[in-house]
Amino acid sequence: MKIAVYPGSFDPVTNGHLDIMKRSAALVDQLIVGVLQNNTKNPLFSLEERVKILMEVTKDISNIKVEAFSGLSIDFAKKCNAKFLVRGLRAITDFDYELQMAQTNRILSPGIDTIFLTTSLEYAYLSSSTVKEVAFYGGDIKKFVPDSVAAAVSEKMNQKRV
Ligand code: ADP
Repeated sequence: MKIAVYPGSFDPVTNGHLDIMKRSAALVDQLIVGVLQNNTKNPLFSLEERVKILMEVTKDISNIKVEAFSGLSIDFAKKCNAKFLVRGLRAITDFDYELQMAQTNRILSPGIDTIFLTTSLEYAYLSSSTVKEVAFYGGDIKKFVPDSVAAAVSEKMNQKRV
C-alpha cells in the first residue's frame, strides 16, 4: 500500500491546500493529512478545530485521512509507514526552505521521499496568512477557501474583534 503524508499547519486550509490534496491523493493509495500542533505559532484555530474542518472539507475524497501530530513531520511519516512526504511549492520563495527540509529529512529517513507538487497557477498567491489578513479587515475570502471555512474564519474574527 502506497501511503503519503501531507503535513502542514492548515490554519486555515485554503483552496491551494485542497488542490494539492486532491492531486496527491490521486497518486497514492492513502493520503494522510497531518495537522501540526505547532506551539511556536499562535494559531487562529485550535488543533481540534483544524482537524475537524479538514475532515469536513475532504470528506468526499475516500482515500484521505486526517490526523493531528506534533514534532517532526518525518517522524510522523515514519509512524504512518508512509513512503512519501508531500509538499506544495508556490514560488521561488518556498523553494529554498523546502529543499533544505527535504534534504534534511532524507538524511534523517532515507526510505521516505519528498514529493513536490507545484501549485495550480490560480492558487500561486494564496496562503493561510493572507486569508487571515483579508478576513481580519472584513474582506471576502470565499474565493480563497471553501464556504464552510470562510464562515468559520469570519466567526473567529468576530470573536477577536470584541
Ligand atoms: P507550514 O506551516 O508547514 O508551511 P502550511 O499549512 O502553510 O504549513 O502549508 C502546508 C504545505 O502546503 C506547504 O508545503 C506549503 O508550501 C503548501 N501550500 C500552502 N499554500 C499553498 C498553495 N496556495 N498552493 C500550493 N501549496 C501550498
